[in-house]
This record gives sequence, structure tokens and C-alpha cells, in this order.
Amino acid sequence: MKVLRNKGFDKSKWMQLPRDVLVGHGVLGQLPQVCADLSLGDSVLVVTGQHTLRVAGDRVLKLLSRNYETRTFLAEEISPASIAEAEAEAREARFLVAVGGGKIIDTAKVASFNTERQFISVPTAASHDGIASASASVPTPGGNLSLQAHPPVAIVADTGIIASAPHRLLASGCADIISNGSAVLDWELSHRLNGEPISEYASTLSRITAEGMIRNADLVKPNREETAWMVTKALVASGVAMSIAGSSRPASGGEHKFSHALDRIAPGKGLHGEKCGIGTIITLFLHGGDWRGAREALRKIGAPVTPQEIGIDDATAVEALLLAATIRPERFTILDMGLTRESAESLIRMLYKE
Ligand SMILES: [Zn+2]
Repeated sequence: MKVLRNKGFDKSKWMQLPRDVLVGHGVLGQLPQVCADLSLGDSVLVVTGQHTLRVAGDRVLKLLSRNYETRTFLAEEISPASIAEAEAEAREARFLVAVGGGKIIDTAKVASFNTERQFISVPTAASHDGIASASASVPTPGGNLSLQAHPPVAIVADTGIIASAPHRLLASGCADIISNGSAVLDWELSHRLNGEPISEYASTLSRITAEGMIRNADLVKPNREETAWMVTKALVASGVAMSIAGSSRPASGGEHKFSHALDRIAPGKGLHGEKCGIGTIITLFLHGGDWRGAREALRKIGAPVTPQEIGIDDATAVEALLLAATIRPERFTILDMGLTRESAESLIRMLYKE
């Protein structure tokens, strides 16, 4: 067969997406069918934590032990050392199942990627879009390292389990989704200014998730499966947008750099999505976007809108805004356009204005 070659066309792309996505009431019971459907092998490493073992890990082990040789790895913290331990365990199994929140899923994501195994994501909370994405966040002494790994081969998100998690986690997940709105504006800005390639599909999908979350903020109620359903679907869509783009660009802009800067100078204060939500109010304001609408939605959801609400003083928040530009400088955002100390101070003050 003659292969047609178009002169000058040399584009190619590799998109990795999850294959089986189950979201809904009681779907945890279908985990064995998912494993069988994907033919992942006869032995599994379940990565979980003390708490999430009780919440869902025990059930997962029971469900899988009928047909698989099971091992358990308890990931209480995430660090390069704990990931190395998880990798050693992963080599003894054919695939991994992560049962827990962000740290546990990221541990399994990196360990499975480094050992060339697949992993299934079983989130016990909807606290950020890492449940469905290819990238993982690993804290190191020099700050958080964002690692590109691979997306889960399957996601089994049981809304009954997710709705039972503390509301603060879900509100943080909502804020992470709302931050997609400002991340896309940063991406478009860099596209116009620097010619950075942009994906119309990825940016549109990401923006829709943010708009939907703002529009439906009234429907976000604590410990309701309907809410868990809505938020989990949006987090999965956000992960898909990143898979299409091949990077976290559609869901991570200046607001994420602000969050990473806070991780560095105020470690342990606030959740990832909470910090991104506060950052989004600032970057949306700078873009001339509807920052009041985003702030109102965050309030309705029960997410913080000022640094003080997460135990961070304003002076530290100012430092974080200034530091944000130095984090991932290759990822251009509105915070990289010559922010001064005076402007950073007035931006933080603005957060408290009615
Ligand atoms: Zn995020």
C-alpha cells in the first residue's frame, strides 16, 4: 500500500486516558469485574493508609483476595523514600490499586509508573483532580515536585464512600475545579503572548468544568451522594482535559504556582484545592475575569477565600505571590507579568473586601 505523505505535516501526539471509569453508588463492588476486564494479572498491591484501610481498603482486599494474590502497602506519607518502598513492593505484584486520598493515589501513580505496572484509582475523597490525572505531587525539602507519570488505567469512584468523607475535602476538590477557569486564561495568555501551543479541546473541556462548578455551587451540600457524583465527574473530566493536553496546563496556572509557593513557605497550612481557590480569585481579578462570581461560589461551597481562613497571615501570602513567578518559570502565567510587592500587597488586601 502506498503511504501518503503530506509535505510539511509532522504533528503527532500520544494521549493516555483511563480506560474504565466507574462513578456512582456502590460501584466499589464492581472492582473485581474491572480488574478482570482489564486482564491486569493475578497479583495485586493495594496501596492505602491506616484510615483509608478502614474506610474502603479492607473491603477492597476482601473483594480481590478471592481471585488475586494480594499484598498491602500502607503509605502514611508521601516522599521519595516512601515511593521507593512502594516500588519495591510493586515489583512483587502485577498491578496496583490505590485506595485513599491524594497522597496515596500519587504514591501508587509514581510507583506503578516507575515499575511499568498499571494502577487503578479508588478515591475515598474528591479533594483534587489528581484522582484521574497523570501527574503527581511529591514533597521534597526544596518544595513540591510535580512529576509526570501516567493516568490510572481505571477509576472506581464510589459516591457512597466519597460522600462520607469530611466536607472540607470535597470543598477543596470543588475549589481545584474552579481554578481551572483561571488556569485556562493563563494558558490562553501564554498562547497569545509567547505562541505556546494550546489545545482547543483540552482548554474548552477544562473551562466547562469550572463554569459548571460555579453555576452549581448551590447544589454542593455536605455528605450527599448527589454532590459527590457531580464533583467526581468534574474531577475526572479535568483529568481527561490534562490527558488530552499531555500536561497539567489546562488545570494548573498562576493559582497553582501560588499554592505551590505556599506549600514551600507555609508547609502544612491549607489543602491543595483551598490554596488554589484563593489564588484563583487573585488571578481572575488580574485577567479581568469574574473573580466575584468565583469567590461567591467558593463561599457557597464552604471553601476558604482568604489566607487567614487557612491559618496563613497576609505577609506570608504576599511572599507566596512574589515567589510564585519563580516556580516552574517555563509555565507562563499572569503572575509572571511583573508583579511588584505593592501590587501583591494590594491583591491580598482585595481578598478581604466585600
Ligand atoms: Zn490542582
